[in-house]
Amino acid sequence: MTLKDLWFDPSLCFIGNMWVSPDNGQALALQDPSTGQDIGEIACGTSADIDRAVAAAEAALSGEWGRMTAPERGRILARIGQLVQDHADALARMEALDVGKPLKQAKADVAALARYMEFYGGAADKIHGTTIPYLDGYTVYTLREPHGVTGHIIPWNYPMQIIGRSVGAALAMGNAAVLKPAEEACLTALAFADLARQAGLPDGALNVVPGLGKEAGAALASHPGVGHISFTGSVGVGKLIQTATAQNVLPVTLELGGKSPQLVFDDADVDAALPFLINAGIQNAGQTCSASSRILVQRGVYDQVRDKMATRYNDLQAGSAMSDLDLGPLISARQKDIVEGFLGQGASLERVATGQIAPDTPNGGHYIAPTLFAGVSPNHTLAQDEIFGPVQVIIPFEDEAQAIEIANGTKFGLVASVWSRDGARQMRLAKKLRSGQVFLNNYGAGGGVELPFGGTGLSGHGREKGFEALYGFSMLKTVAAFHG
Ligand code: ADP
Repeated sequence: MTLKDLWFDPSLCFIGNMWVSPDNGQALALQDPSTGQDIGEIACGTSADIDRAVAAAEAALSGEWGRMTAPERGRILARIGQLVQDHADALARMEALDVGKPLKQAKADVAALARYMEFYGGAADKIHGTTIPYLDGYTVYTLREPHGVTGHIIPWNYPMQIIGRSVGAALAMGNAAVLKPAEEACLTALAFADLARQAGLPDGALNVVPGLGKEAGAALASHPGVGHISFTGSVGVGKLIQTATAQNVLPVTLELGGKSPQLVFDDADVDAALPFLINAGIQNAGQTCSASSRILVQRGVYDQVRDKMATRYNDLQAGSAMSDLDLGPLISARQKDIVEGFLGQGASLERVATGQIAPDTPNGGHYIAPTLFAGVSPNHTLAQDEIFGPVQVIIPFEDEAQAIEIANGTKFGLVASVWSRDGARQMRLAKKLRSGQVFLNNYGAGGGVELPFGGTGLSGHGREKGFEALYGFSMLKTVAAFHG
């Protein structure tokens, strides 16, 4: 696939169900991470484009979209999901080209996007308020209302999945959305908006303004017409977003990074754990907020886990997105530099295995061979900082208390998992781990759209996915009627 195969022009913004030139007419170069080559241009939206998009969203709220009933909104979302499925092949190729992820992962992302639309389409008319028994002469009830215009600032690593969980939930609750995709990968965001138009989403209910974070993103985060911001991305930018939204006292959902551990106890089924221990670290070349970059292993199975992981690691292959190997390239030369910097800091560590870069891989692509370190101290930089690359560390522990201390010993708290056959231990750890999600004898549970997701500490706050997202993308209003 090339940009010429797209059915839309990515150098345009999508505002009010129309393709429009960015205000300044400027464009950004788009690169294929698999080859490092520029493949075309995308729109470089500005604050003026964000103004236009917010105005279109406000018009949608006071127009056809704002008048729609919840079941009508739900039916449109379901139709969008169907159109996503009908275009699965094109969307997957687009995402693979743009993000550099292996085609099978891109296909899984398309399926997740369609499922989000199905789920939130079905949920749209199932969120409702309650009645509250109160003083004599009163009737009290609550209403769930949209925030109004919601801003969605998303990263490049899983555009379709994040659009599904964030924009899907916002639209289900009747908000009108302005989406600022990442400058590195915005193709599927634009494609999705056009499919939503085809599915009958009224003008202005979803607007997409590609552009630079510091311009279009910052303009969206500080826009006075926006009622809620959801952001997924780095901790540094998350802090900027929280600061910007504070000026308008906006509710904000921040889904930031992680240093998520998997805890393997002596009584674990090591062979069952093995694929999860590795896949959770190398999926999307480790560029996943919920990547498991720390493997904590109890002494009794330590050698076994290290050796079995090393054996599999040595066979892992990185290659172009279309060659569909275990992992693709990193998104950019900059990201590769960052990961190489971390590898440099691990020079004195025990490097137990390194995967391969496939022989026919294009020279200019941003490839990193997956790398496994063992015997790492919990305080080492590689065990503390988010790397966002295919690098995992194995950390030994003696007992449950120490495992908890190490697991909770970073500033993050997004995902954790426990591998143990001891049910009582599972329950204890589920409570004691400081983490937005805890998995027992699995990791990620297949990523189900139903499962609330979000973090604590530097991993952020607020929850996306599942019904929780619908509460986050709405405001609760209490109505108290005195009738005597
Ligand atoms: P990553 O490390 O994944 O590239 P970033 O946090 O840099 O994540 O980017 C995530 C999203 O935030 C992107 O859409 C990017 O354009 C946007 N962004 C970057 N800087 C800012 C900013 N100052 N204000 C608002 N959005 C920004």
